[in-house]
Amino acid sequence: VNGLCFNIQRFSIHDGPGIRTTVFLKGCPLHCFWCHNPEGLAPVLQLGIIEGRCVSCNGCGQLCPGGDSLKASSDGTDCTVCGRCADFCPADARKVLGEWITVADLMARIERDTVFHHQSGGGVTFSGGEPLLQHEFLLACLAACREAEIHSAVDTSGYADREVMLKVASRTDLLLFDLKHVDDEQHRQFTGVPVAPILENLRALSGGPTDIWIRIPLIPGFNDDHNTLSTMGRLLAGMKAVTTVSLLPYHKLGTAKYRLPTARPTPPELPEVSPELLAQAQTVLIEAGVSVTSM
Ligand code: SF4
Ligand code: SF4
Repeated sequence: VNGLCFNIQRFSIHDGPGIRTTVFLKGCPLHCFWCHNPEGLAPVLQLGIIEGRCVSCNGCGQLCPGGDSLKASSDGTDCTVCGRCADFCPADARKVLGEWITVADLMARIERDTVFHHQSGGGVTFSGGEPLLQHEFLLACLAACREAEIHSAVDTSGYADREVMLKVASRTDLLLFDLKHVDDEQHRQFTGVPVAPILENLRALSGGPTDIWIRIPLIPGFNDDHNTLSTMGRLLAGMKAVTTVSLLPYHKLGTAKYRLPTARPTPPELPEVSPELLAQAQTVLIEAGVSVTSM
């Protein structure tokens, strides 16, 4: 089974215990309006462009099999993502986003970091996008990690088929479960999907045996109000498998990205989360009965 990744990040320290290798799988059913990884949304190879880097050499125009790389790539309809322009571009203004990889090749790359995993109590984290979208590949990778005695974690939105979710949970050591909101209308409006399947999956996993780290992206104007945080806290407080709850404050870092043919309109400007807002949100969750770790 092959998988489509868009990044393999070494030495991650926020995606589970210890030092980790984080594998980002391409494709996501959600479209969160604050998404920092738009290249992870579409489950296909894409050509990304950073126009500000272009030095107008026209090399890409001459190499494109379509005869005009700018035309081919402007809306993606004529671009075959052959990668010639990206290979040539002297300014790194073009890049093929995504890489098909076999389980064996991916494991070989993960195992380059084994010494760091062992020394730090780390391992590999499968993230995305939504890694459960490529569940056959993911399950094969998790089996290979068990075989190689590498600690594994899966970072999920929770929006997946129940059977797949339970199977993945049974084959990994840790779930990083992103909880964004508890209100269906708000969730649909800001992520594009209903919240009910996510909450039902969380309840199905809540008795264990796989440990769950809940990650709440704290987004101003979306889920930073007292009622929402308090409801989330009370929901999580009684869940045996939930060992950690973290708030991930919204930040603007990393928002300068490649333009994609399927890019959405620019999302509204959001303020960054102030230390005061973060402290207030932590207090609300603690008062609701959960202990919160900062990231
Ligand atoms: S090859 Fe790169 S630098 Fe040259 S015109 Fe194309 S995008 Fe611009
Ligand atoms: S990746 Fe697309 S735009 Fe670039 S050379 Fe190939 S077909 Fe042309």
